[in-house]
Amino acid sequence: MTVKEFDKYIRMGLGRCFTELSTSDRKEKYRAAVLRACLHNYSYDAQSEGSRAEYIYSLAAQYGDDGYFVAPVVSAFMRKSCRDGWDFWDFVHYCRLLFEFAKRGSVAAKTALCEKYDHLLERLAVKRKRYWRVDTDAEQYERLCIALAELDGRAAFDKIKTDLDKLYRLNTAYTVDDFDAFYALLNDESSGWGGKARAEEAVVLSRRPTAEELELSEKFKATADEDERHCMGMDIINAFEHGADLPCELLDAVYYSRCGCCRFDAVKLMAACGQLTDERARECVYDSYGDTREFAKNLLESRKDK
Ligand SMILES: [Zn+2]
Repeated sequence: MTVKEFDKYIRMGLGRCFTELSTSDRKEKYRAAVLRACLHNYSYDAQSEGSRAEYIYSLAAQYGDDGYFVAPVVSAFMRKSCRDGWDFWDFVHYCRLLFEFAKRGSVAAKTALCEKYDHLLERLAVKRKRYWRVDTDAEQYERLCIALAELDGRAAFDKIKTDLDKLYRLNTAYTVDDFDAFYALLNDESSGWGGKARAEEAVVLSRRPTAEELELSEKFKATADEDERHCMGMDIINAFEHGADLPCELLDAVYYSRCGCCRFDAVKLMAACGQLTDERARECVYDSYGDTREFAKNLLESRKDK
């Protein structure tokens, strides 16, 4: 794989980057690309895809040199201020990535999460809450509550709960409703906090595509603009899900999308119509999107049993 290809695939979030790093004896040449992925949020649509931190961590971990990656991520994280939604998702990216490093014992990563936690808690205590706009301070703080509770379990959860009780007394503008995702951890404890893969649905491609669907496929093939392709890709997925017998190469083209959610849909459909090879499924086990990883693992398991 060339460095240029690696850089393209890491932005897409494909599992082949993991396979390349874990098997190549020349992984140093990719180090800069992995560091860039640590410092930039490559999610196509973070709000629906969630964070890709687990994926990025799995790549960085191949170097056995966590400190090299943690230090620049910590400084980016500490500098980050949130003015808009994009900033917020960058924050989430750093926060979850540091969480992954802290989970494997990085003290620097854990310290950064705790410092940011303290800093935001102090700010919230004296903040004039504005109800007409998104409160990014409170949202960032809640993400940290969740990360720290996930790291240290029930004791950390209880400590944060005490901090919140104190916050409600200091600043009565805040209530438990502002942090409901944190409190929901209690109910989620047994099921895990990540997204669960949905069951494989059988799709039968049983009807001839309509003229519009055929036209759409032609346009899709000819379009280079990423955002246009993304919209068309979603329509194509939709046509497949409604039984249109379109050429399966279209699903493969959606697979090479920057959007992890769309790739997940494409993978499910490829599996449903017998087009997902074992090799491709093995790549999906290391994909950037959690549902895709889960789905591929289950699929390979079920194929083994047959
Ligand atoms: Zn998408």
